[in-house]
Amino acid sequence: MTDKGPFDHWQRAVEARTIPTPTPSGREGLSPVFQFSQNSLQDYVDCQRRFQLRYVLDQRWPAAESEPIEEHEHFVEQGSQFHLLIQRHLLGLDAEKLTPADDLLREWWENYLASDPLKGLPNTFRQPEVQLSTPMLDQRLLARFDVLAIDPGERAVIVDWKTTRYRPDRRTLAARLQSRIYPFVLAEAGAFLFGGSLAPEQISLIYWFANEPGRPEVFAYDQAQHEHTRTYLEGLIAEILGFDQETWPLTDDHDLCSYCVYRSLCDRGTEAGTIRETAADPGEFEPGGAVDFSLDDLDEISF
Ligand code: SF4
Repeated sequence: MTDKGPFDHWQRAVEARTIPTPTPSGREGLSPVFQFSQNSLQDYVDCQRRFQLRYVLDQRWPAAESEPIEEHEHFVEQGSQFHLLIQRHLLGLDAEKLTPADDLLREWWENYLASDPLKGLPNTFRQPEVQLSTPMLDQRLLARFDVLAIDPGERAVIVDWKTTRYRPDRRTLAARLQSRIYPFVLAEAGAFLFGGSLAPEQISLIYWFANEPGRPEVFAYDQAQHEHTRTYLEGLIAEILGFDQETWPLTDDHDLCSYCVYRSLCDRGTEAGTIRETAADPGEFEPGGAVDFSLDDLDEISF
């Protein structure tokens, strides 16, 4: 079940990227020390214009992300509530008292309790909603873990809850920036929790799916991936800081536009796609819509 994921994807990604010299004009729209995250960097990789609109121009959303909007809002809220349920459970609240009334949420909750996804994971330190950050260039790179489980000096496991309607395949998951940024940040910034320096080989990442509790995806990490990720992320951030075009390039992938809140601004249509037509997880796909869901919205325990 455990492997390193499609390393080739990242190899090609690094080779394809040149590192420009950051220019003052490229930095102007962002705060002096911008907190890059998997969401903002994934936005940039998916569509540079989306990153510009959302983070550089702070553009509010002119269109609903997806239709039907009420269904989407409800689904997003369920995902948010599920994370909060587990957070409260791990903080010691009684599982029975947490049982939700909502049908889908209760199904996820029962899957969680029955499958016990944290069984066998390190238990010396187990904490929900842990935030860590590390410097990168002269900016910050931030990661927020749904659960961090550590046996100091031995191993550290990041667990991420997924409430996606459509389960991404392993290759797609491995190619998401989250799969690299989470272990990278933990390796760089987690030593104080680990009781000493933390080797990449001591880190793994688990995606657990509320709809498929018996089929988590597990990704190992190692030194080669770590150095590769550093090179890739530094190149990506330098490229962003160096951008000085008035209008950043729009994605060629028009499918992304059908459920992007900026589509009317980009002349990529005004009709939203329906959730059922997309494979995107509204919890992950965060173009900044009014129904946007981000774990950044949740209460957290940060370090
Ligand atoms: S509508 Fe398409 S091109 Fe415009 S920001 Fe969104 S994804 Fe990018």
